[in-house]
Amino acid sequence: MKYLSEYRDAALSQELLHDIKSIVTKPWTLMEVCGGQTHSLVKNGILKMLPEQITMVHGPGCPVCVTPIHIIDEAIELSQKLNVIMCSFGDMLRVPGTKISLLEAKANGADVRMVYSPLEAVKIARENPDKEVVFFAVGFETTAPANALSVVQAAKQNVKNYSILTSHVLVPPAMEAILSDPETTVNAFLAAGHVCTIMGYNEYDPIAEKYKVPIVVTGFEPIDLLQGIYMAVKQLENGEAKVENQYIRYVQREGNTHARQAIDEVFAVSDREWRGIGTIPKSGWEVNEAYRHYDARRKFNLVEEISEDNTTCIAGEIMKGKKKPFDCPHFGKDCTPEKPLGSPMVSSEGACAAYYHFSQAEALPS
Ligand code: SF4
Repeated sequence: MKYLSEYRDAALSQELLHDIKSIVTKPWTLMEVCGGQTHSLVKNGILKMLPEQITMVHGPGCPVCVTPIHIIDEAIELSQKLNVIMCSFGDMLRVPGTKISLLEAKANGADVRMVYSPLEAVKIARENPDKEVVFFAVGFETTAPANALSVVQAAKQNVKNYSILTSHVLVPPAMEAILSDPETTVNAFLAAGHVCTIMGYNEYDPIAEKYKVPIVVTGFEPIDLLQGIYMAVKQLENGEAKVENQYIRYVQREGNTHARQAIDEVFAVSDREWRGIGTIPKSGWEVNEAYRHYDARRKFNLVEEISEDNTTCIAGEIMKGKKKPFDCPHFGKDCTPEKPLGSPMVSSEGACAAYYHFSQAEALPS
């Protein structure tokens, strides 16, 4: 299978591991930004195979994990309005708000629907002109183009009963926030390949230069990750700090210009609160003035209320690369995918879920 099996080749993996071991002379901490990369690293046993000098820490790249609890509460509140149909991807339905999840709101009678695309939500709006249809638009630069497109389509089709509740977050400002923390141990980043497929990687040059960190745009298969780690370690060992692209089969320096145009058409950059991390300046997107009719917050006059987060969950420390899931006293005991205490255990991209599903049984607490 072209572009899949060759990136899972065991012999090539061993060669790359050998290459990494042959160049590493000092301890280095690398952060993979994306939760999908975390899952691949854990699932394929790569963390255990790396030389002991290399520590991989897990970044904030899980959209469900970084969505603030008060925005989940906003979605639940909206879903409980009589004339509203709330649409969302499956993961978001299960994440607990302050009191209940969207799934529990559905069980209590709210019209909550799981969709596979925001365009499906526009279709639901067309078919239900007497209802207000809201799409819960969370995620990174990867989901933003489709969400923007749904707004453009709704406007073109004169669908007035559609809006989006946004919690869009941007990767480069989060990387800067992590590097600005005086306690950070991160020496280099594996940047998320799919984010760069959309946005390109021009934005990373000033970050690599300012903080003197290598940034390697990296894919998600074992060979991608091992090659990305090799490229980052090679730079570190050589005293370099530049942006390199491992994921050349998908990522161009300029990204996908059509997708970026759709984003620019509908969204404006804003400050954004990240769950467990706090507010990061200019790290989010909101619906802009031109499309204000499609902004659920304005349409329903929602007032953001900061909710108390679960203080027993150390998700923020994990997403900043300061701790690992096994460091959490709740891991595998009172926090499991069936009964999660925090969003990294709920989400299919969460670091805690990755460790729970793929780590060997003996590593789990008894
Ligand atoms: S194991 Fe559960 S409580 Fe601990 S950090 Fe992960 S999600 Fe939070």
